[in-house]
Amino acid sequence: MNFKLRIFRKDYTNNLSAWNHLRFAVVDLSKSKSYPENFVSVLPMRIDSNGKMPSAFTKFFGNKSLATARRLLTDALKKEDNSEIKAEITRRLNLLEPNPIIQIKCRVCKKFFQTQKERVLKQKICPECMKRFGSQE
Ligand SMILES: [Zn+2]
Repeated sequence: MNFKLRIFRKDYTNNLSAWNHLRFAVVDLSKSKSYPENFVSVLPMRIDSNGKMPSAFTKFFGNKSLATARRLLTDALKKEDNSEIKAEITRRLNLLEPNPIIQIKCRVCKKFFQTQKERVLKQKICPECMKRFGSQE
């Protein structure tokens, strides 16, 4: 299987304005070289593989959804030279990042410090206290 992103630009107009929308499609080049025969799914804005409303993408890629989405976007970014599309790829990559920084109270000095959600379970001591403990060893 050889998954790639295909990005389409669609232009819309109405009486008042014109705008465009970029559509990100995932294709499997091992299936076919031509579109839409190789179409797998649309790449959703956010990946929520254990959510209540799984997308076709997360149904297809399962627990590899997030990693796959990241890889597809990173690959596409390298090859893309249209600045508008690049900006959209970057924006989508940022949307895939795990939750923003949160505040935690340090167990030792009771001061608040910032960390990323993914680390919360492991890290309950602020970096300064960690350093202090480290230097005592
Ligand atoms: Zn501390």
